Amino acid sequence: MSIFTDLKELLLPRCCPVCGKLLMQGEEVVCAFCAIGLPRYRVANIEENPLLRLVWDKADVVRATTFLCYNKFSPYHNLVIDLKFHGNHDLAVRLGQWAALEARRQGFWDEVDALVPVPLTRWRRWQRGYNQAEMLARGMADVTGLPVVNLLRRTKNRKSQTHLSGEERRRNAEGIYHASVPNEWCGKRLVLVDDVMTTGATLANCALALQKADRNAEICIFPLCYAE
Ligand SMILES: [Zn+2]
Repeated sequence: MSIFTDLKELLLPRCCPVCGKLLMQGEEVVCAFCAIGLPRYRVANIEENPLLRLVWDKADVVRATTFLCYNKFSPYHNLVIDLKFHGNHDLAVRLGQWAALEARRQGFWDEVDALVPVPLTRWRRWQRGYNQAEMLARGMADVTGLPVVNLLRRTKNRKSQTHLSGEERRRNAEGIYHASVPNEWCGKRLVLVDDVMTTGATLANCALALQKADRNAEICIFPLCYAE
């Protein structure tokens, strides 16, 4: 710890986003107590798992993993609320780093060329000041050394996914993502990064858009959380 870090901690103390307790030195994301109970989602096989089965009928995705189980009734739900709605982009970067370290043990990053965040609409991006998926990807990039490339854009400003049913989410997400893949990124293995995967519609549509722009693209998916 440098004197500047100490000073920053003193002036801007950070709280555990799960329980609200002040974080001690060395507690990076959540407090030690909440770290023990972290609802990890363990993907046994990155090439055949429930996340992949959700997107297989729509897009050709070669590899998938995730970091946490998402349950909106659990206090760990605060992690997603904080990084998404409370402007806590630092939390997103730290969670991205943590998730990337765990994924390294599964060999998830082998032969991967770049990280591609799921985009927000320009309006939402402006409103929020950042794209949480991009911040997660930046954290993953810190660990893997991979570049973050914004190859996707979201064109139509549709309803927020938050309160939609499964079928409504699927319809809402169709055709709203478009990709442009410059030559230097063609034929590459790309990891799509998002915050929460529920029906898989968003990630499937992003994968589809990338494969429309470049049929040789190999797509992997890495949502921070998965809601079973
Ligand atoms: Zn805590």
